[in-house]
Amino acid sequence: MELRDLPKVDTLANAAPLAEFPPRIRTEAARAAIDAMRSALTEGRDVPDGLEFAMTHARGASDLSLRPAVNLSGVVLHTGLGRARLAPSVATHVAEVAAGYSTLELDLESGERGDRQEHVRDLLRKLTGAEDAFVVNNAAAGVMLTLAAAARGGEVVLSRGQMVEIGGSFRMPDIIRESGCRLVEVGCTNRTHLSDYLAAMGDDTSAILRCHPSNYAIVGFTSEPSLSELAALAKERGVVLIDDQGSGLLVDARTLGLPRLPTLPESAAFADVSIASGDKLLGGPQAGIIVGRSELIREISRHPLARAFRIDKLSLAALEATLRLWASGREEEIPTIRYLRRPLAEVRADAERLLAAWGGGAEVSEGLTEAGSGSAPGAGVPTFRVGLSGGAEALARALRLGMPPMVARIEKDRVWLDPRTLDADELPIVEARLRELSG
Ligand SMILES: *Cc1c(COP(=O)(O)O)cnc(C)c1O
Repeated sequence: MELRDLPKVDTLANAAPLAEFPPRIRTEAARAAIDAMRSALTEGRDVPDGLEFAMTHARGASDLSLRPAVNLSGVVLHTGLGRARLAPSVATHVAEVAAGYSTLELDLESGERGDRQEHVRDLLRKLTGAEDAFVVNNAAAGVMLTLAAAARGGEVVLSRGQMVEIGGSFRMPDIIRESGCRLVEVGCTNRTHLSDYLAAMGDDTSAILRCHPSNYAIVGFTSEPSLSELAALAKERGVVLIDDQGSGLLVDARTLGLPRLPTLPESAAFADVSIASGDKLLGGPQAGIIVGRSELIREISRHPLARAFRIDKLSLAALEATLRLWASGREEEIPTIRYLRRPLAEVRADAERLLAAWGGGAEVSEGLTEAGSGSAPGAGVPTFRVGLSGGAEALARALRLGMPPMVARIEKDRVWLDPRTLDADELPIVEARLRELSG
């Protein structure tokens, strides 16, 4: 090929295989392809196929930035990967609601304007045992709104063992201040007694706040009053007990292979108001779930911040559908639950398949899949994972930059792939990528 044989931009941009792309992307891709061909020619390298180059370029340019990825990281609820994956039936439902008009705020019986909260209120009452429920866009908003509406600028008592920072910008002391309340710290980092609470409470105290420290643990010489003891104290002193339960766990954590953790129904049994995330162990969308006593939920729903923190219709559609799976005993369809319960032998078989796809220089070994955000820190279930040898950083990068992006973990100079969080249809895709990268 000579320089004068290079195709014209218009000719290449209008080639039939590029027709699926918008005109601007076709032109850009054609220019890039011709540039690449020209420099290869002048530098005496092999000249790439223009159309093939343009197709790859166009695909790259039209790829959305926020797109599906494959989680091999060994963390079920990985914040960087969007925490909980929705059940397939839930995702289908969300897509339908998104693509059309919906019954978001319409009472079909009367034809009048309805309340979006009605889609989940009864389900949450049934699943948690609470009198009433209100949902917002995440749990941080739920805590802030609850403090603003139920503690109304008063003093909020919090144990020094629960002065936590969760996910970077959520710091309990800051949230309390921003909600217009005053923080009263009690006890010590490792031990707080009921008498500490009692001594700190005065006429201005309006709430006791309890927060589940979901991302760290205090071990050793520790103690904390139980939720039932705090409930008795709050009742006696006429203040509100608010429990930031966090994970949204609805069943005994031991049925998920995890150590015992406080559940949302247990929290609701004692606290006046309990708050949880929708996208942790509940396995649903990002959402803030607030359940509790009717009169408090009414005040929460009427507070101006309730509008600012409103849940959007797609999250609400996903939340209702996920709660229905729980309510009908179909929680096995929820990926978070299914992954944690997957038999070890099955995970091991997947790991062996990945090992075979990679070929030499790899090993399968036992490890731990962490539950991730919203469970006891370090808690997880046994797993089998594949450790790939070779330049770990470069390999992890190649996995990330492929289509779809695959996210693994680097440990001791190896790239580790944990197949526990893979669906059956993803396994062959990972196998193919490994074959490609090792070959
Ligand atoms: C995760 C968590 C939060 C924050 O929840 P978001 O839904 O991410 O806002 C707050 N409190 C506790 C105890 C948590 O575990």
